[in-house]
Amino acid sequence: MRIAIDIDSTLHDYWPQLAQAAKRRFGVDLPYEQQLTWDIAPLRREQLKVLVEETHRDDNVMAAEPYPGAVETIRRWKQAGHSVLIASHRHERARDATARWLERIGLPYDELYCDFDKVGHCIQEGIDVLIDDSPETLAKALEAGITPATLLHPWNRDLCEIEDIVCGKDWPALAAELERVLA
Ligand SMILES: [Mg+2]
Repeated sequence: MRIAIDIDSTLHDYWPQLAQAAKRRFGVDLPYEQQLTWDIAPLRREQLKVLVEETHRDDNVMAAEPYPGAVETIRRWKQAGHSVLIASHRHERARDATARWLERIGLPYDELYCDFDKVGHCIQEGIDVLIDDSPETLAKALEAGITPATLLHPWNRDLCEIEDIVCGKDWPALAAELERVLA
């Protein structure tokens, strides 16, 4: 099978990075548990853009630690013959650091996509399963006939309850849930 995997809030715990930057730059608190939608209400669009750019700077990209079980699971999938596309809405200029980060954490993959048409690229590449925390991306994948899967976060919990999405509270749970899909 062909599996596509997002990075932020999927491969590593991105929210604390974003919340710390929001506090430092704008004095805004972004409590994880209260982030129930994809819309980050206390921030203006321009402010969010600045924060995303900051968190995607080379040093911040390199500092991230993968969620427990993520790398081991993906290694197992690769060994089982599945292909892995790492797909992020990160800007192209974060690509080199992202590739170095993937190497640092020892994550095997076939292709790295950093651009803004993730689902379009997944369709083009014949992706079967897309693992991504964004409700918008999950809904688009579902529409495109791609099996959507995600780690459970406050912002996608509602969608996971009503739609046919494979969900897990952590990587071991998600891997177990995905077993029947990948079999
Ligand atoms: Mg994400």
